[in-house]
Amino acid sequence: MAEDRQARALHVLQSVFGYPAFRGAQADIVDLIAAGGDALVLMPTGGGKSLCYQIPSLLRSGCGIIISPLIALMQDQVDALAELGVRAAFLNSTQSFEEAMNTERALRRGELDLLYVAPERLLTQRCLELLDSIEIALFAIDEAHCVSQWGHDFRPEYIRLSVLHERYPAIPRIALTATADFQTRSEIIERLQLNTAQQFISSFDRPNIRYQIVEKENVRRQLLDFIRTDHAGEAGIVYCLSRKKVEETAEFLNESGINALAYHAGMDSSIRSKHQSRFLREDGMVMVATIAFGMGIDKPDVRFVVHLDLPKSIEGYYQETGRGGRDGQPADAWMAYGLQDVVQQRRMIEESEADIQFKRMQSARLDAMLGLCETLTCRRVRLLDYFGQASKPCGNCDTCLNPPVSFDATEVVQKLLSTIYRVGQRFGAIHVLEVLRGIDSEKVKQWRHHELSTFGIGSDKSEAEWRAILRQAIAMGLVEIDHENYGSLRLPEAARSVLKGEHSIAMRRYQKPVRQKRVSTKPTGYTESDLSVAQQALFERLRWWRMETARAHNVPAYVIFHDASLREIARAMPVSLDELRNVSGVGEKKLESYGEQITALVIEQQAA
Ligand code: ADP
Ligand code: ZN
Repeated sequence: MAEDRQARALHVLQSVFGYPAFRGAQADIVDLIAAGGDALVLMPTGGGKSLCYQIPSLLRSGCGIIISPLIALMQDQVDALAELGVRAAFLNSTQSFEEAMNTERALRRGELDLLYVAPERLLTQRCLELLDSIEIALFAIDEAHCVSQWGHDFRPEYIRLSVLHERYPAIPRIALTATADFQTRSEIIERLQLNTAQQFISSFDRPNIRYQIVEKENVRRQLLDFIRTDHAGEAGIVYCLSRKKVEETAEFLNESGINALAYHAGMDSSIRSKHQSRFLREDGMVMVATIAFGMGIDKPDVRFVVHLDLPKSIEGYYQETGRGGRDGQPADAWMAYGLQDVVQQRRMIEESEADIQFKRMQSARLDAMLGLCETLTCRRVRLLDYFGQASKPCGNCDTCLNPPVSFDATEVVQKLLSTIYRVGQRFGAIHVLEVLRGIDSEKVKQWRHHELSTFGIGSDKSEAEWRAILRQAIAMGLVEIDHENYGSLRLPEAARSVLKGEHSIAMRRYQKPVRQKRVSTKPTGYTESDLSVAQQALFERLRWWRMETARAHNVPAYVIFHDASLREIARAMPVSLDELRNVSGVGEKKLESYGEQITALVIEQQAA
């Protein structure tokens, strides 16, 4: 019985999706749901969550109901399934009354395998009554972290989804998310009444993503340099904190000859969805966005994710960077970070209206993020450790590739702290650094700070070096910023023992940012493209063909075939349908729709 079910699952994977084997926990999850159990699935972005509910929906009788907050993406998801020959539809507020009626009718007639529904729609009396009247295969609750009131994606309707369990106790439920932290997990279980669900927690490692955190100098130059050198013509996302910065950065990139689009919550929703759709459909677009952008974006070939401002937490950072390289090919997570980021984030927490408990939690999350930025060891080890997973140095992050040098900073920190003390803890970073470096500016003279004993005791270091030291001291909690007093620097209790020389301090030595061109170290977990000239020519032809086909069908190119599938075709050069069937990502329906065209292209190329 169980074996029979597993064989059927594998058959669906191969014939419908065209993939040879399940990945990680997929097989177990599919089997559990197909057998009628409940599951909570934590998998990183790109881990392959969708198959976990799509295949059981096809295996069980009735229609699988997928609850997702991502209305704007439902059309693409349904189109992608149609390309695979799966009967899918959606119900949400973007469609006309007539379209909704057609979907309802198809559902009643048992003509759908999968239905995507927005939570607010599902919870209407009308929709619940509709569900009462049909056979339901399962409920999938996607982006399940939206039930968390602490998270930034909180959706009140998600809390009411507990109705599913009460109203349909016999129907299997699967909740899925890429947000890993323990608190979110327990909130999901509690609010969705998933106490008896089996939990599947995957490794959060994304070996094909290279993590880099660089010091901010001239950040626009650095960004341009990074894109031009490593990612010319490739798709990427650039995250900024404010709407204004999003617009300015997009404009700057466009002026510099890089195709960029802006996206933030303050933009008209029609422009937003137009930009999103262009990013998905056109090759090599850069999306400059606030964190409002990205949830559920399943574009597989995003080659880089940039952070121009410090994220608020490691959860956020990991989720955002996880949008790169979903196809398993190399991708970069690149962040530029400086003193100002620390100051700004600390201020935002202090000035927020939230209660003390919330502020404390936000501070703890920020501290973990700062720890990642300032770490002297492998970034990936730090990241995975944060999610409770042990690992070894990865060889594919900046600290592994170019290990930072640490130095005994006890003395320089003492110089810094005593200068802050001498100026009465009433001056900001610029002034303190001027005194340290012995610069007799107007303001320094006005306050007679050039007469202080610490004036000029740090003249052996450049301003950039001092900023790096101050930044690390703030990150370590040895210096505080008084936001109510124009950002003046203050000494907290922890500074005392350092001033007394009671313990020593190690810091990252400042290194002038150097461009590190992507070297071809091969981390485990991805395959470098190594096509011959003829294969490369075929690959280019296939990409052209895909673009035209995608345009004709009005779907994103990757819905037709992923790059990885095209590359495999270019390498294998299949000339018959049977040979083509062996390529990963080629299922029966795609073979039927495109098999002839592709083998014809291969044969033409061989003749050329
Ligand atoms: P998630 O929703 O977890 O972010 P997706 O479900 O979008 O991830 O899957 C990520 C990518 O991996 C998709 O392009 C999908 O087609 C592919 N994929 C998923 N499972 C497999 C598998 N077993 N074999 C090959 N490719 C897979
Ligand atoms: Zn590393």
